[in-house]
Amino acid sequence: MHGPNGISEMRCGFCGLPGVKGRPLLGGLGVMICGDCAREAARSFDEGTETATAAFEAHTEEELVRMLRGVTGQRPQLERFQRDLVTYMRSRGTSWGSIGEGLGVTRQSAWERFRHVDGQ
Ligand SMILES: [Zn+2]
Repeated sequence: MHGPNGISEMRCGFCGLPGVKGRPLLGGLGVMICGDCAREAARSFDEGTETATAAFEAHTEEELVRMLRGVTGQRPQLERFQRDLVTYMRSRGTSWGSIGEGLGVTRQSAWERFRHVDGQ
């Protein structure tokens, strides 16, 4: 899949930080991870330690605000991935029925929501 446009607007889904030179973002299906978090995850896997991302009490208020900003930033990022994928699928000739199936909505609802992507 092609890289998203405007990569600098994307944020790591783990730490909420944007990608920068030296800490690039890697993309998955609607999820981004930065180099620092990927290295931390690899270290945890190597050591067999568990990464407790929900240990909120271990964080300062400033860190929690950054985390909240990161979580809040995921919604437009996910919506963008979704739109890009629908646009790509339509360019391949995927039916609105199949797209609706993937979205968990009717063919009609899929078309109403994304019909603007045809011809992009
Ligand atoms: Zn990160």
